[in-house]
Amino acid sequence: MRAGFPDFRLGNVLATSFTGTLSERFGDSVERIPVPRRLIDWLAVYGLTVDSCTPEQLDLARELRESIHAAATAAALREALPAAAVEVIDDRSIEGRAAAVLTPEGERRWRLGSSSVEDALAVIAADAVDVISGERDGKLALCASPTCRAAFFDTSQSRTRKWCDMNTCGNRQKKARFNAGRSRNEGTR
Ligand SMILES: [Zn+2]
Repeated sequence: MRAGFPDFRLGNVLATSFTGTLSERFGDSVERIPVPRRLIDWLAVYGLTVDSCTPEQLDLARELRESIHAAATAAALREALPAAAVEVIDDRSIEGRAAAVLTPEGERRWRLGSSSVEDALAVIAADAVDVISGERDGKLALCASPTCRAAFFDTSQSRTRKWCDMNTCGNRQKKARFNAGRSRNEGTR
């Protein structure tokens, strides 16, 4: 991590991990890509290495992020997808150039056409299309934490995951319940 900047919350699903770069949307929200440099860092974690990022490209990334958030939330609620959000996702998917390539070890890597932020955003947008359209095995759901409500992609066998992230939202809820139980017990003593 870089000193002075919030840590990343890294998940396994590219599109919803990207929406997680803004967390606690309904509480004290945390912007995890506050400067262009941090977007470059985040993309690198997911194998999307870009040369540079301008403030305008960061704006483009955040616009895509909020569009994925809006569309994924609607999909999780079985509501009609917001047209403006769909347009942004589609535009980003179309405008970048990226190819999936296979390594000799049999792993997938992304090769970006011109190593630009736009190319990287195209990969994220295409991932969002996969997840929101139901093309991939899993279920979109909303985090049970009232201050979070992040859309996440549940790939558990039972499809009963409640939190976007066990280590943050899940833990907090558990602790809150534990403390509530304890004060109830103390009251009966
Ligand atoms: Zn959450």
